[in-house]
Amino acid sequence: MPNRTTFAIIPAGGIGKRMHSQNPKQFLTLFDEPILLHTVKALAKTGLIEKFFIPTVDVVYTKKILNHIKTDLDIVIVKGGKTRQDSITNALDEIKKLKLKPEFILIHDSVRVLVQEETIVSVINKAKEKGAAVAARPVSDTLKLSHTDENGEVIIKKNVSRDLLWQTQTPQVFTADILFEAYEQAQKDHFLGTDSAGLVERINKDVYLVESPQSNIKITTPEDLELVKMYMSLKK
Ligand code: C5P
Repeated sequence: MPNRTTFAIIPAGGIGKRMHSQNPKQFLTLFDEPILLHTVKALAKTGLIEKFFIPTVDVVYTKKILNHIKTDLDIVIVKGGKTRQDSITNALDEIKKLKLKPEFILIHDSVRVLVQEETIVSVINKAKEKGAAVAARPVSDTLKLSHTDENGEVIIKKNVSRDLLWQTQTPQVFTADILFEAYEQAQKDHFLGTDSAGLVERINKDVYLVESPQSNIKITTPEDLELVKMYMSLKK
């Protein structure tokens, strides 16, 4: 195995409740191809990933979709879990089961189809330098802390300074040692986080932020899907 090997985990175990569609959002079609396929291709294009692990809500359907890629990409499909964290844990367990020893693991949401090659490369390079790095954006809106009155109406309590605040996205890249330790510790503590960086912070490792573009949208609602279509048609 080449030195400094990077594997990717693409969590695709969600059911896409907020999309209100019959099909999970990662399987919806965008310009003739399922969203998941666009995402795999975006990562593969960099040529920096040796093996892909996809924890998915539907193993049979995912295999069918990926059969459309006429390449020699090395893809392992595993069952997703109840939460995103469980899905990623299933992929990490599979890496362990196969006795594979990548040096780095990249995590990228199956529904962030617009991720740019430059972002993927920058986050991988930063992780190679520092051990842990994530794509993120500085918060640009004004932030307010709220409270709810006796009638259930939401009111501003006070302003929150956005000066040091960032929103994390994916890709998130870590040395495999750091990522395995973070997930094992979270499991021991019954801690459920919303991203992998959150688990890595808990084991006191510095996670470096790499600024990524606004277009790196996580498709969550029908409105996001329309926005992504608009970006993609601009590129065509
Ligand atoms: O639900 P959310 O928008 O946070 O999902 C982000 C990513 O995590 C999606 O790619 C989704 O398929 C994945 N996910 C998963 N397993 C779950 C829930 C979400 O792999 N149980």
